[in-house]
Amino acid sequence: MSKNINRPYFISVANQKGGVGKTTTTVNLATALAAVGKRVLIVDLDPQGNASTGFGVDRVNRTNGSYEILFDECSILEASVETKVPNLYIIPSSIHLSGAEIELVDTVNREFRLKNAFTKDKNIDFEYVIFDCPPSLNLLTLNALVCSDGVIVPLQCEFYALEGLTHLTRTIERIKTSFNPCLSLDGIVLTMFDKRNKLSAQVEDDVRAHFGDKVYKTKIPRNVRISEAPSYGLPAIVYDMKCPGSEAYIKLAKEILNKDAKWEKHNITPTNNDKDGREAA
Ligand code: ADP
Ligand code: MG
Repeated sequence: MSKNINRPYFISVANQKGGVGKTTTTVNLATALAAVGKRVLIVDLDPQGNASTGFGVDRVNRTNGSYEILFDECSILEASVETKVPNLYIIPSSIHLSGAEIELVDTVNREFRLKNAFTKDKNIDFEYVIFDCPPSLNLLTLNALVCSDGVIVPLQCEFYALEGLTHLTRTIERIKTSFNPCLSLDGIVLTMFDKRNKLSAQVEDDVRAHFGDKVYKTKIPRNVRISEAPSYGLPAIVYDMKCPGSEAYIKLAKEILNKDAKWEKHNITPTNNDKDGREAA
C-alpha cells in the first residue's frame, strides 16, 4: 500500500473549557494506540504546552513546534520529536505559540494553515494524528477542526457541562458547513468521574439522554495516579499501567477502535478518489 494513499486519521480532542481532561485524554489515548502498534503523532496546540511537558520534552527541544508548522517555518517531520513511547511522536508547543492566535487573524487562509501543512508533507507515515486543543474555540482550535476527520470531546461531569457542550456541537456544525464537510463528532468521553458523587451520575444521565451512543461507554474515573504521571514526564499508562485511570484509558482506546470501523478501514482500504492522500468530501 503506498503512503500517499494511506493517509492518517486526524482527531481533535477539543472542549473550550480548561481542566476537563483534554491533554490527559490526548496523551493516554495516543499512548494506548501506540502500544498496539499504531504510529501516532500528537500535535500540541495549547500554548500552555502541557502535553509536551507531560512527555518530558525539554523547552530547549521545542525550537520547531506547532507554531512553526502553522507558519510554514518547518515541515511536519522536522517538528516531530520522538517520545519515550515507541511509535509515538509529538510536535511540541513552542514558545511562539502564545502569539499565534493574534498573528493568524491577518494571515491568508487562516483556518487552513494546519491542513495545508499536513497536505504538503507527503512523507508522513502516521496512522493517527491527534490534536490537543487549547481551552478556547479560537483560531488554533478552528485549524485543528478544519484538518480533522473526527472530534473527541472530554467532558467533566459538573453542573455546567451540558451548556458548554451545546456551544461546541454548534461550532462543529458550523465548521462542517463552512470548511470541512467530513468532520464528525466521534464521541464524548466522561472524565474525572466520581461514582460517589450524585452530580456525576446526574450529568452522565443527562449527557447520555441528549447524545445517546455518541457518549462512550467507558468512563474515566477520577484517579490520583493520572494526575501524578505528568510530573514524571510519562503518560499515566506508562507510569502505572494497572491503576484504574490507565485501565479506563486502555478500555477507551479499545472501544474507539471497535466502535468506529472507519478508523480501521481508513488504514486498510485505500479509495480510488484518494489522489492526494485525502478522501474526497
Ligand atoms: P485540559 O487539557 O482540558 O485543560 P487536563 O488533561 O490538563 O485538562 O486535566 C486537568 C487537570 O486534571 C490536570 O491536573 C490533570 O492531571 C487532572 N486530571 C485529568 N484527568 C484526571 C483523572 N481522571 N483523575 C484525576 N485527575 C485528572
Ligand atoms: Mg490541556
